[in-house]
Amino acid sequence: MQQTSTTMKEIVQQVWKKRPMIISGPCSAETEEQVLETATRLAKTGKVDILRAGIWKPRTRPGSFEGIGTKGLPWMQQAKKITGLPVTVEVATAKQVEDALTFDVDVLWIGARTTVNPFSVQDVADALRGVDVPVLIKNPINPDLELWTGAVERVAKAGIKQIGLIHRGFSSYGNTEYRNAPMWHLAIEMKRRNPELLMINDPSHISGRRDILLDVAQKAIDLDMDGLIIESHIDPDKAWSDAKQQITPERLGEMIGQIVWRKEDINSEEYHAALEKLRQQINHLDDELMQILSQRMSIAEKIGEYKKNNSITILQTNRWNEILERAFQKGEKLNLSKEFITKYFDAVHMESINHQNKIMNS
Ligand code: PEP
Ligand code: MN
Repeated sequence: MQQTSTTMKEIVQQVWKKRPMIISGPCSAETEEQVLETATRLAKTGKVDILRAGIWKPRTRPGSFEGIGTKGLPWMQQAKKITGLPVTVEVATAKQVEDALTFDVDVLWIGARTTVNPFSVQDVADALRGVDVPVLIKNPINPDLELWTGAVERVAKAGIKQIGLIHRGFSSYGNTEYRNAPMWHLAIEMKRRNPELLMINDPSHISGRRDILLDVAQKAIDLDMDGLIIESHIDPDKAWSDAKQQITPERLGEMIGQIVWRKEDINSEEYHAALEKLRQQINHLDDELMQILSQRMSIAEKIGEYKKNNSITILQTNRWNEILERAFQKGEKLNLSKEFITKYFDAVHMESINHQNKIMNS
C-alpha cells in the first residue's frame, strides 16, 4: 500500500495522539530481508503504530556491530511502503539527520548516549532547524533530569513542535536485576515537569532480557505512560545486537494483548468520593508525620547543644547503626521494606545532621 507523503504525515499525527502508542522493530537493521520480514510480521499483529530500527548503532565498545549505515535507509522506506506504517530511526549527528530525512524517515529519536552530550544534541538540533519532523528524546544514560531537559530545550529551540520522551532506564555499575535501572521516580518527575510531552517507556533497554519485559511494560502503563517502544526480531537469539532482550513479532503482539490497560481517570461520582475521603486521610497523616519530624529535629538540636558544649562530633557511627538496626526490625513487622527504611532513615538522619551542624557552628 503506497502512501503519499502528506497521507503519511497525517498518519503520524493520528499516531501521536493514540494511546497507547506502540513502537517496535529490531534493535538494528541487519539485512533487507530481516527488516522487511520483521515489518510485515509486526504489521500482521495489528498492534504496532510505528516501525523502529537502529541504522547507526552507538556501541559501548568498538568492534561490536556498529550498524549497517545509510544503506539500511531504503529498507526502512520499503518497510513503510509494504506496511503503510511510519518509521523511526536513531540519529546522533547532523549527517545522520540529513540522510534519514532524505529517505523520508517519519520520526527521529535521539539515543541515551547522545542525550548526555550537549555538543551532539546541539549538532542534531541545528540540522533539524526548519524541518517538520517529530523527535523522541531518550533519557541520558546517567540519572540527570537537567541533561534530559536540556536536550528537549535544544530541540524545541530549533523549532521542532512535536517532541516526545523515552524512558529507557539509567546505567549503574555492577549486575542488577535490570540492564538499566528504571528509577521510575525520575520518569514520573520528568512527566510532572513536562505534562505536554509524550512519555514512552522502553522496557527492552530497561530489562536487557525477555523474561521481565511484560512486568516492566505493565508497570509503565500503570504509571500512565503514553506508549511503549519494544525491540523485536524475526530470530531474536541470532540478532546482531541486543539479542537477549528481543522478542519475535508474534510474541510482541501477544504481549501487547496481555497488558492490562488502565485509564488515568473515570467519570464516576462514587469512585471520586471514595478516593477523596481516602486522600483526606493521607493528607492528615502526612501533616502529622511532618509535625513529628519537626519535633524530632528539635530534639536533635538539643543533642547538638550537648555535643557542642562537650566538643563531641556530630556523627557517632555506633548510634547510627543502632538506629538503623531498630528501624529494620520494626519496619519488617510494619510491612515496610528494607529499601524504604534505608532511604527514609538516610534522609531523616541527614536532616538531623544539618540541624545539629547549624547549632554547633552558630
Ligand atoms: C536502541 O534503542 O537500540 C538504543 C541504542 O537505545 P539506547 O539509546 O536507549 O541505549
Ligand atoms: Mn537496542
